[in-house]
Amino acid sequence: MQCREAQHAISREMDGDLNWRERILLRLHLRYCWCCKRLADQFKVMRRILHGMEEKHDFGEAGKLSSDSRKKLSDALKKAAEEEDSK
Ligand SMILES: [Zn+2]
Repeated sequence: MQCREAQHAISREMDGDLNWRERILLRLHLRYCWCCKRLADQFKVMRRILHGMEEKHDFGEAGKLSSDSRKKLSDALKKAAEEEDSK
């Protein structure tokens, strides 16, 4: 699996859109590719934030987020990533 495919898979995994084969390939890739691993970690953080937002505001599916919510989400992600870095 190439990095480009892995990154695509990571974003699709967030939508629960990966089959078992893609999941395994992605896991294998993340074992040796630090760069994609990092991206996957950031997506995990984003998913956590997204879930938190859904619980509080009942946004429903991520795909239905308004552009304003998306902006807030990406800001929150950046902040969370910075916090992870400073650990
Ligand atoms: Zn990679």
